[in-house]
Amino acid sequence: MPTLLVNPDEALAYLDQLRRTKAKIEKHAVLCYEWQEAISSSRRCERRDAGRARMDAIKAWMKEHGWEKELDYFTWDQITRLSLIKEQKLLTERIWNKIRLSLINWMNKLRDIRLEETVFKARRECLISAYCEYLKQPPNANDTCDILPHVGDIATFKSFEDLIKAPVDVDVNAQSFSDAFVQLPAYVTEWRRKIEGQLVSCLLPEGTSPMSKTAIDHHSPKIACLNLARVAFCRPFTENDVSVTFYPDVLLKRCFIEPYTLRHMSDWDKWQDPKIIEIKTMNGCPWSLEDSKGRNVIEVSDAAIPIIRASGLDPDIATTSDMDDLDARFRCGSCSSAMGVIPYTWRSAVAHAVSYHDRLGRRVGKASWTVLNGEDRNENLRKTKSPPFFNRFECALCRTSVDNRDWRNGVLLHLLHEHKIPVDKVQEDVHMRGPF
Ligand SMILES: [Zn+2]
Ligand SMILES: [Zn+2]
Repeated sequence: MPTLLVNPDEALAYLDQLRRTKAKIEKHAVLCYEWQEAISSSRRCERRDAGRARMDAIKAWMKEHGWEKELDYFTWDQITRLSLIKEQKLLTERIWNKIRLSLINWMNKLRDIRLEETVFKARRECLISAYCEYLKQPPNANDTCDILPHVGDIATFKSFEDLIKAPVDVDVNAQSFSDAFVQLPAYVTEWRRKIEGQLVSCLLPEGTSPMSKTAIDHHSPKIACLNLARVAFCRPFTENDVSVTFYPDVLLKRCFIEPYTLRHMSDWDKWQDPKIIEIKTMNGCPWSLEDSKGRNVIEVSDAAIPIIRASGLDPDIATTSDMDDLDARFRCGSCSSAMGVIPYTWRSAVAHAVSYHDRLGRRVGKASWTVLNGEDRNENLRKTKSPPFFNRFECALCRTSVDNRDWRNGVLLHLLHEHKIPVDKVQEDVHMRGPF
């Protein structure tokens, strides 16, 4: 058994002293903690007071500088989405100078959102219904183009934009746009020329021949290149859409008016960009060759060149009409199999080359084309292959405009609602155009 080395009284005294020291330290620690808490709490109060004073000063500045309507329309939580308003720091002269510009930009953005939601949106809806009526009338002698823009473009033409953005107290209704519609053919000509210029300068390879005979009666020989059969438009390889179109049908594709996907836009996006409200109201943007990242939404494939050569024409001269007139049938040597020959029109042949051979690349090899002649051709005319994506139609009673092509059932519904033609009375060759 161990023996004690000190006497018990000394040990007890020592323990007692330790206990007293501990109590003393603890008491001091409590005092320190309370002191620290008092300091932090007073700092918190100071910061809160500074934050309140800052928000009060900013609110007063807003009232003084004509932002009262924004203060009425938005909640304070919405206004303070700009975090610098809520910062808990005193507004010194130096900080004011630093934040003033951001504050003005933010208030301008809020004003844009307010005006778009409370004034312009209703006017845009009036324009949409007025334009629908305009499109429902058949083309007439004043029309300058066979394809009319999407309403998103119409709203940017000066006479139309002036009405949409007219002062708040001006009464604008669907009738108000009738004078502007008189000027529409001139705007549409300008719109079309701008687009043609962009397609030529951004997409056609340098030196695409302007030798086409259509150049003679066209306003620009360079733009006449767009009518060459070799200029086949398709979506870039990254897209799922493998359809192929030619000029001017390519203008009707929705990718130009929806360069970033409307489906992915939420109401929250308006705080980043108030334009989102306008785009959602119009269900599209003004025509653009580029998406939101500056990439072209469409590119040119040279898949038609061997097909034009196979039919005995010169790809530098042959136009889409020349190829249509020829009405040849083609066979793809790489794909003919035990199932026999699949005959293609020249357009569906290009679509096959792009969607099958170009996209799948080395796995399926290159397409190789020969023209079906004589009996071969006649025998095969009946079963000519149309790719499955040639399935869009349009109403033949309306003017053609960007984004008016639809599935067959969509057009039947349009004929019923807009032209009061019941489904069993629809004559496809009279009331519908397509498939495209
Ligand atoms: Zn093939
Ligand atoms: Zn129609």
